[in-house]
Amino acid sequence: MTRRGLLIILSSPSGAGKTTLSRRLMEWDPTLKFSVSATTRAPRPGEADGREYYFRSREQFAQMVAAGEMLEHAEVFGNFYGTPKGPVVQAMDEGRDTLFDIDWQGGQQIRNSVLGRDVVSIFILPPSIAELERRLRGRAQDSEEVIAARMAKSEAEISHWAEYDYVLVNRDLDAAEAELRTILTAERARRERQPWLSEFVRGLNREFEAR
Ligand code: ADP
Ligand code: 5GP
Repeated sequence: MTRRGLLIILSSPSGAGKTTLSRRLMEWDPTLKFSVSATTRAPRPGEADGREYYFRSREQFAQMVAAGEMLEHAEVFGNFYGTPKGPVVQAMDEGRDTLFDIDWQGGQQIRNSVLGRDVVSIFILPPSIAELERRLRGRAQDSEEVIAARMAKSEAEISHWAEYDYVLVNRDLDAAEAELRTILTAERARRERQPWLSEFVRGLNREFEAR
């Protein structure tokens, strides 16, 4: 008897460390499945279609939405981003947990959907705004203009922190990763997420009776 897979939503202002932390979490547990979003933004150096994102034109994106293929979608920094539904439903049925790197709008939509009870949402805060800006620059993948636009949006993203089940401050990467592992381990151990327990305890009772 397998449990339904969890939907682990990570949100943060851009540059706080979601991508780095999701990669580490997936190295720790290779059964985790990353939800590859579709986006209309241009690929960054090193990004591959189908790995970081499905890079699509605005027309293709609109068609996916119209066909009901998106679990959620939103406009972020002037581009469209959305989560294809099919792979998520499949992972849930297989009892595999899916990791989402999506913004607060996507988090709200999934939490408020029929899948809401399978959601574990985590907000990642930077230790300071100065450090957030340093990280965005240090990533060296965006132009000054893009960095300024992302910084300008950070305050609005951070304002949604209290909508999340868990909040962590990403000061030290190892410490933040350890916190994420702890959250995942605890959420998997919740009684309602272990459907085999009744049968297991019945077995223990039979063992008592046989003594
Ligand atoms: P996001 O996905 O939230 O936009 P990234 O994971 O791309 O953020 O991280 C932005 C930059 O900050 C990257 O260069 C990453 O290596 C760096 N970074 C992430 N977490 C930390 C940390 N705890 N300490 C120092 N640098 C970090
Ligand atoms: P980036 O362009 O830096 O990869 O992502 C920009 C923002 O879009 C991040 O906050 C990221 O979490 C968010 N994002 C990425 N994919 C999705 C998605 O499928 N849906 C929503 N709502 N947001 C997304």
